Amino acid sequence: MKPLFFFLILLLNTALFATVPIIYDIHGSSPALDTNMTQFLNQWRTDTITPVQEGNYTNVIVNGDTTQKTVSLTFDDSPDENNTDKVLDILKHYDVKASFFMIGDPMNDENATAVTRASNEGHLVLNHSFNHPRLTRLTSEEVIAQLNATSERIQHLTGKYPLLMRPPYGSINQTTLDTINTHGFTTVLWSLDSLDWALKDKNAIIENVITNVRNGDIILMHSGRANNSSVEALPEIIEKLTQMGYTFLPLETMVNIKAYK
Ligand SMILES: [Zn+2]
Repeated sequence: MKPLFFFLILLLNTALFATVPIIYDIHGSSPALDTNMTQFLNQWRTDTITPVQEGNYTNVIVNGDTTQKTVSLTFDDSPDENNTDKVLDILKHYDVKASFFMIGDPMNDENATAVTRASNEGHLVLNHSFNHPRLTRLTSEEVIAQLNATSERIQHLTGKYPLLMRPPYGSINQTTLDTINTHGFTTVLWSLDSLDWALKDKNAIIENVITNVRNGDIILMHSGRANNSSVEALPEIIEKLTQMGYTFLPLETMVNIKAYK
């Protein structure tokens, strides 16, 4: 009787308290991508996400709460002199708060206003390295220099030192992660790739997002110099997801984490 009793208690506890968070596979596909690109992308996704799902990569965020009809928009590669402002205008129009993973090096006089504007309008300004290298090709010291220099620039412009980072190209391995984690940063990947970096047609981007969206998705988009099609696709993405019943949550709320020091 006794072992059975304990087993039942254990079962009850598991059911009540131990809701294991689900870590998604990364979605996002398009017939517009050629076979080679699709294969390359799928291989990268498996190689990167499997160690997170199996608990070998720690402190890596892929998605939010999969039980809620919420999504979080994230934009990489700002600031630039053009598209960042356009994205901010659209977000303002729809009253949506998003996250910007920004690159440190372009935060010069010309682009500094886009950084402060994003922060002032309630968006998160986060770390996307100093000049967009593959962090896996750098030494530990170089990785830390990339992260520190960028967070310091952001702090200089916004008063806040971000501790959330997104590696360029999503490129991480155990060594890189150990460095990132040891220095107090948390890695934020994504669960839905809009593919706006590859698809230059706004309808293909919209279609990809709408058909692949799931509860708790962190959606990857771009707002850099080359990303005109992202800007064109964004209003319809927001409108369609809203019609489908999704709410847009800031990343901090979505994954319950502090974005800044
Ligand atoms: Zn990037």
